[in-house]
Amino acid sequence: MIMNDVNPFQHEINLNLNIRSLKPSATLLINERSNALVQQGSKVYKLGLGQSPFPVPDPVVRALQENAFQKDYLPVKGLPALRDAICGFYERHSGVRHDPEYTIIGPGSKELLFLLQLVYYGELVIPTPSWVSYAPQAKIIGRNIHWVPTQKENKWLLMPEELEKLCAEDPTCPRLLILNYPNNPTGYTYSRNELMEIAKVARKYKVIVVADEIYGLLHHHQEHHSIAPFYPEGTILSGGLSKWCGAGGWRLGTFSFPRALDWLANSIAVAASETFTSTSAPIQYAAVSAFLPNPEIDDYLQRASSILRELGAFCNAILNSTGIDNPAPEGGFYLFPDFSMFIPGLSAKGIYSSRQLAEALLEEKAIALLPGSEFGRSEKEMTLRLSYVNFDGKTAMEAAKTETVNRLFIEKYCSDTIESMWELKEWFLKL
Ligand code: PMP
Ligand code: GLU
Repeated sequence: MIMNDVNPFQHEINLNLNIRSLKPSATLLINERSNALVQQGSKVYKLGLGQSPFPVPDPVVRALQENAFQKDYLPVKGLPALRDAICGFYERHSGVRHDPEYTIIGPGSKELLFLLQLVYYGELVIPTPSWVSYAPQAKIIGRNIHWVPTQKENKWLLMPEELEKLCAEDPTCPRLLILNYPNNPTGYTYSRNELMEIAKVARKYKVIVVADEIYGLLHHHQEHHSIAPFYPEGTILSGGLSKWCGAGGWRLGTFSFPRALDWLANSIAVAASETFTSTSAPIQYAAVSAFLPNPEIDDYLQRASSILRELGAFCNAILNSTGIDNPAPEGGFYLFPDFSMFIPGLSAKGIYSSRQLAEALLEEKAIALLPGSEFGRSEKEMTLRLSYVNFDGKTAMEAAKTETVNRLFIEKYCSDTIESMWELKEWFLKL
């Protein structure tokens, strides 16, 4: 109990300097903020948090029910049967054969990404924009961060020339490149050729690549390609259940290493053994069924990706009708429109940054979304990240078993999401 309002702990000055200036992750903060508004009775269009709207596939739920009794600690690297299943999964989907000995299961890939940055003494290289948590993790650990510029005209993709330019400045510096595709926040992905060119540069400078393919199975045309076959010796494959399997809250992520990086896998296992010990046993047993070949899951993924494809294209078309020019997304469930053409109108309203823009949209239109500055873009650029999954995914997935997924389907089952796009359009056109 604190007597007379005097706190005996000088908390601020005893905080690690690396974390003192950080606030909770933007994705989680906007979720809690919009949930609080909903609880107070307000209608909110929740385009903030990126969470799959679809239920966990039935065979995976059944496997969890059957394994609820599993209670023992599992090996630090993970359940052997699951690590085998993951290696089989990557052989089928990415065309690389990894050794289960160098595959690690963690409580979310986010935790594994953190441990990797902790154990590898290298500079973090990430394109701007990139997912909100890579850079704060590096900051907490005290690693240097190098943001590589990208161009909207190139769909915000990392160009091999930019990587070459950075590496040539200091060719022997150890580097960790996190390449995420299909991408959060942009929704775009790389072609095989583009991946091949990036792989050439990475090999030349011995850059370790983390291929964050957590949205790989949500490629809108089910045509995901991996960088791993082009740079097998230097690529760590990062994935998990959170996105394609709709199980973010189950907290299961995976890292799969090539043999040349066995030392890194083993060091992560040391750090894991001293921190989280092992990932939840029932969840690991259930996850085996998610990674083994299963026509029921293939069918689920077909339906999920066609809903996201039609919805993403429609939302994008509505936003483009304001006059901006965004190519349709290719995978996952995000849009990253740039409203900088509205800067004169926004300035007249006293809005000078994407953060202020996001605030105004929440206050005036009850639309919760994230500013581009959270993803490493400049404050002044009017980019926003929209997560277009605020619809009832269970009903939509059920309906997609018998109905064709087209514009009419989207208008029927994702009406709230579509409505929020019209609301956004109206707001910008009134500026
Ligand atoms: N990478 C990307 C690009 C993400 O969007 C997320 C979001 N959850 C993660 C990694 C981490 O996912 P998880 O920890 O749930 O595996
Ligand atoms: N990855 C999700 C997002 O970008 C949310 C979960 C998280 O950030 O950990 O919105």
